[in-house]
Amino acid sequence: MDRSNKPPGDGTNENASGRRRPREEPAMTRYALILHGGAGARPERNYDREIDNMRAVVEAMKIRLEAGTPALDIAVEATVMLEDSGLYVAGRGASPNLAGAYELDASLMDGATRKAGAVAALQGFRNPVRAARAVMDHTPHVMLAGEGAALFAHDQGLEAIGDEAAWFTHAGKGEDNHPPGTAPDVLAGALAHGTVGCCVLDSAGRLAAATSTAGVFGKMPGRVGDTPIPGAGSWADGHVAVSATGQGEYFIRTAACAQVSWRVAAGAPLDDATRAVIAEIGELGGDGGLIALDHHGNIAHPFNSQGMKRAWLTTDGEIGVEVFG
Ligand code: ASP
Repeated sequence: MDRSNKPPGDGTNENASGRRRPREEPAMTRYALILHGGAGARPERNYDREIDNMRAVVEAMKIRLEAGTPALDIAVEATVMLEDSGLYVAGRGASPNLAGAYELDASLMDGATRKAGAVAALQGFRNPVRAARAVMDHTPHVMLAGEGAALFAHDQGLEAIGDEAAWFTHAGKGEDNHPPGTAPDVLAGALAHGTVGCCVLDSAGRLAAATSTAGVFGKMPGRVGDTPIPGAGSWADGHVAVSATGQGEYFIRTAACAQVSWRVAAGAPLDDATRAVIAEIGELGGDGGLIALDHHGNIAHPFNSQGMKRAWLTTDGEIGVEVFG
């Protein structure tokens, strides 16, 4: 899906008199977006609701992009919609850790400024990605964890969850995952993952990424995966925006999202860069996927798991939704 890595032209043509006049642009929107709902999909399960939801999020964000909304705001808004849907293992769809606690992680990154914000093992709040945004906007830090993150979220007036048992939907139950370091066929189905994330290129050429998760099913109390770690679970700079999903330990060990950027900066097409990172994760024994967007609007979404829920809007206005294939 790497359509062109050529930089856009200068937007002008010379006419017969040698004077330069504006070139007629093709019907390009110049903005683009890709989101995911996790790499834990199982072929035997029906994903109609997730497909409808992802399409609705992309359509809503297309309107926001048309209105000139900055990439970072769109990344947060899309992620909030995915968190609130209760359909993915993030936000409302979260499942508890082995001690029965709901510890949620999220991060975001703004490519234009290279600012980042994150929360890890956050308990008691509806939208971890909003807490990550508040860390970025209102602290000198990049990440807050645990009790400190919750105190901060409270101080910021973020919406708390009342009755956790009634709130969380355990969306990923029955999906595909396995504990770090075990072969997929040994314990497939024992755990689940279903992180959400979004990468955006806005009409001003800015890139941003956001990612949010409840982590893997069956995780130990205090376990933090790749999702809240800039460079592992999210990344955005002047070249690319990237969001990861899968067995987070492997994405941390490969600096997966930052590695995509380094490869693109070294001249690799986005498609090759993302595939190489997923291949490296596979060689280490991990699985999952990446969504990525470069500053030309090229998108890539490789995975080595059974499926990855994902949807996109291309620069020519095409909307796509896929779970497998
Ligand atoms: N990467 C997430 C984690 O390890 C899980 C997922 O993507 O589903 O916490």
